[in-house]
Amino acid sequence: CGIVGYIGDQQAAPILLDGLEKLEYRGYDSAGIAVYDGEEIHVMKAQGRLKVLNELSHGGEMLPGTLGIGHTRWATHGAPSDTNAHPHFNQDRTIAVVHNGIIENYLKLKKKLEKKGYTFVSETDTEIIAQLLDYYYDGNPLRAITKVMHRMEGSYALGIIFSDHPDELYAVRKDSPLIVGHTKGGSIIASDVPAVLKYTRDVVFIENEEIVRMTAEQMEFFNVDEEPIDKETVHIDWDV
Ligand code: GLU
Repeated sequence: CGIVGYIGDQQAAPILLDGLEKLEYRGYDSAGIAVYDGEEIHVMKAQGRLKVLNELSHGGEMLPGTLGIGHTRWATHGAPSDTNAHPHFNQDRTIAVVHNGIIENYLKLKKKLEKKGYTFVSETDTEIIAQLLDYYYDGNPLRAITKVMHRMEGSYALGIIFSDHPDELYAVRKDSPLIVGHTKGGSIIASDVPAVLKYTRDVVFIENEEIVRMTAEQMEFFNVDEEPIDKETVHIDWDV
């Protein structure tokens, strides 16, 4: 399983598909991508090989936009299917999430939200993340993310898009790998180094409970108290 994300001056979809291919060795049963063009979040999901998604989307051409997230899924909660494939959304589809890992207390959180009128479309633990972000969201993405982190138990690497913040891509992790890199005109996230090597050899390894806010121009890092933190860039000089 793997996640990738991109924001920059290039079309996102081909970069996401290429990155997911580089993560195929991690194993998966379905794949999906969401790309935002500032007006609409375009989504495509497919059970089975990445090749299916690649063909369905004409190599990504069907999903225009320069901000996007992609996912290969290794199902833990809910059978492999198009509906259970990521990305997952809040109800009005303004927040998109890809997730690797397991949210241990998702049933408890799901019940809480169902009582408040939220309805769920998938059987995944992941959908709770998108809906809980919605529940806490007041226009400040970083605030909503840290609130959700305080509520979730388990493991996660996440890529998140907020449609009212079209120039930002968010990522966070706990007990699931995540790296970020900055390339000419863009920023990229991935589960592992091979997915980004084509674009940059300078990467930042995200540690547990660290959050990244990326724009096309820069990357900023925060802890779970929303305080800015400094991160070291590592130069990768090996080949894959
Ligand atoms: N637990 C999530 C699911 O079953 C994510 C699985 C993964 O890491 O790919 O959808």
